[in-house]
Amino acid sequence: MTQTPIRIDAAFDSGNIDVLSIDGTAARLAIRRDHQSEFAQWFHFRVAGAAGRELTLAITGLGQSAYPGGWPDYNACVSEDREYWGRAASSYDPATDGGTLTIRHTPAADIAWFAYFAPYSMERHHDLVAAAAASEGVSHRTLGTTLDGQPIDLLELGEGETQVWLYARQHPGESMAEWWMEGALDLLTDPADPHGRKLRQLCRFHIVPNMNPDGSRRGHLRTNAAGVNLNREWDTPSDERSPEVLCVRDAMDETGVHFAIDVHGDEAIPAVFLAGFEGIPSWTEQQGAEYRRYRAILERRTPDFQTRRGYPVAPAGKANLSMSTNQLAERFGASHGCVSMTLEMPFKDNADLPDPAQGWSPERSKLLGRECLAALLELLLTRP
Ligand code: ZN
Repeated sequence: MTQTPIRIDAAFDSGNIDVLSIDGTAARLAIRRDHQSEFAQWFHFRVAGAAGRELTLAITGLGQSAYPGGWPDYNACVSEDREYWGRAASSYDPATDGGTLTIRHTPAADIAWFAYFAPYSMERHHDLVAAAAASEGVSHRTLGTTLDGQPIDLLELGEGETQVWLYARQHPGESMAEWWMEGALDLLTDPADPHGRKLRQLCRFHIVPNMNPDGSRRGHLRTNAAGVNLNREWDTPSDERSPEVLCVRDAMDETGVHFAIDVHGDEAIPAVFLAGFEGIPSWTEQQGAEYRRYRAILERRTPDFQTRRGYPVAPAGKANLSMSTNQLAERFGASHGCVSMTLEMPFKDNADLPDPAQGWSPERSKLLGRECLAALLELLLTRP
């Protein structure tokens, strides 16, 4: 008896998959590269005709993906209601079909969605911006326009002197970064939250929940509509290549920056960690000490943050000033004692506190967003 073949679609917001072949409930797939770029890693598609059938989804060619180290010990994200995202058992074989991730899963419902991480759609982005902009004391500005014609949204709140910039999704496939923003904005806009209230007294917040709407909608991992990695543009952003960075950096020049977090996800490392600005030409021990103090506060506050795993630190004078964290610490170091950092969350999980059902998740990203802000308050209240 011939079984009806499953059907796979990805022509929607942040969709990304090429269907090479389908045979019953088995599919051979490949990830489409970011437009005008070599990067490929983000996938997001739906499978129809799936109820009660064991699917075997083989994503091939991953030896050529942006981060082959992201696939071992990785389980794909799956949802049937697009609210709760769990994990589907997956295995990686570098020797099969150019490197293959095989996802095996039996959905209960007729349609199931699969993604590299729980997606954060542009519709949800507009819901987030609308809800925040309607909150007491929050103002909204459109800073600029992307190459595809989308707005770059900025939310501002707080009456204090400390200029805090939070920005996320320079790399659009790192959707956990905008889930983090949702948690951060929840805390800051809650009129009852004591951390939010005190932070609004002490700080002026400038928040860009999504730096790369074009890459987000196009289903990119790492680049904008022109295939440009925005986090390599901060020394010389341009209207032609990186209007997203240019308009945000101009707005930062207007306000100055005392404290900044650039929110990301990491494909390979199973941990939450920070990267700092060691190696900038104008490095001061005082700037470095405040960065290390923030890290220590956050590590004490939440078991989902640690300082053992992370990136190698740049040697003295060798910082890459095209990256935002280094550019901001250098640009606003002398004037504002700027402390800036890159926050990385895992696509896999926190290996020190694993959750087999969900891995790293939207829920944990949001909780971390709240904790990062509570840690900022502690940093400000305990300044030596
Ligand atoms: Zn990133």
